[in-house]
Amino acid sequence: MKGFEYLQEELEAMQKAGTFRRLIPLESEQGSKVIINGKEVIQLSSNNYLGLTSHPRLRRAALEAVEKYGVGTGSVRTIAGTLAMHEQLEKKLAGFKHTEASLVFQSGFTTNQGVLSAILSPEDVVISDELNHASIIDGIRLTKAGRKVYKHVDMKSLEEVLRETQTYRKRLIVSDGVFSMDGNIAPLPQIVELAEKYDALIMIDDAHASGVLGKNGRGTVNHFGLDGRVHIQVGTLSKAIGVLGGYVASTQTLIDYLIHKGRPFLFSTSHPPAVTMACIEAIDVLLEEPELIDRLWENTRFFKQGLEDLGFHTGKSETPITPVIVGDEVLSHQFSDKLLAFGVFAQGIAFPTVAKGMARVRTIVTAQHSKQELQQALDAFGKAGKELGILQ
Ligand code: PMP
Repeated sequence: MKGFEYLQEELEAMQKAGTFRRLIPLESEQGSKVIINGKEVIQLSSNNYLGLTSHPRLRRAALEAVEKYGVGTGSVRTIAGTLAMHEQLEKKLAGFKHTEASLVFQSGFTTNQGVLSAILSPEDVVISDELNHASIIDGIRLTKAGRKVYKHVDMKSLEEVLRETQTYRKRLIVSDGVFSMDGNIAPLPQIVELAEKYDALIMIDDAHASGVLGKNGRGTVNHFGLDGRVHIQVGTLSKAIGVLGGYVASTQTLIDYLIHKGRPFLFSTSHPPAVTMACIEAIDVLLEEPELIDRLWENTRFFKQGLEDLGFHTGKSETPITPVIVGDEVLSHQFSDKLLAFGVFAQGIAFPTVAKGMARVRTIVTAQHSKQELQQALDAFGKAGKELGILQ
């Protein structure tokens, strides 16, 4: 069918430049090893930090939920699609995050969009770290509030913006807790100090920190001992939790408001029983199997050290997200392709996901990886790095 030639041209230009990418389908379940093109390779690209996507307890919870409640909910939450289990999960998440209440959305992405678009008006201003996740940026685009950006994790820059914005009714500082492309942690103690000094609200997106940082994986707020001092915590159920969805944990007032004004919550069908019950089980696993998080960090230290010993540039990562920065976009894709040929699945990531000239292969180890798998992966990185001239 004709009509999309104008898009095809752009795609062809990407093909010529070597930046056109096809999706890479897995032919197995998610895990430390996956099957791609019929070949078993080591998985270093997933967000499955604790291996919960295939945890026996979550599988069982999901299967039992299907048997007992079927596969769908048939409605949005506010009409006929709230199951008792949705509220059970929300109570559990609020308890986990040490907040009064929580609300589950369809994804982490829609949580950020839903919260930001709902709670800010033209007399307010949102103040955002320049490297915040796309879902925060899109959420900000949906608000009619003033918009200010501060330099990445730069507290001088944040204070300047706070000084400039004193005439607004409400100011909301928003930041990723852990930055998804570099793996660095937001300087939350300083953000809290500034927010308290200038009477601003704080919203932290802990997509990559929940299940990873803090006691039993409670996230960055708990990691820094700041429980009760951060107004809004956003999380995802799709990464360490291993399933699907997003949530916001905050005061009862904010949650009641979002039930009435959070557009993705209001206008999109609720989570199916299998997803909801698996998420409930996942929180119990976090509370009862802390050794998974210990293993995640042990693997992180081993792998990061190995990459640095090989001579790679791993940026300022402080978490299991370890970028191997190569700079050039085409080189990052060539690196990824070579790694795959050597039995390692680690995706190249380039502009617009990261800044131009900062292309990388991003790695994430999980609690499921064995030392032997990680060593095998390091050998592949060393060999591919030398062949492509990234390493001397
Ligand atoms: N926030 C951050 C910081 C993320 O990295 C992601 C996932 N890419 C999201 C939000 C979106 O989460 P989800 O995949 O659950 O939509």
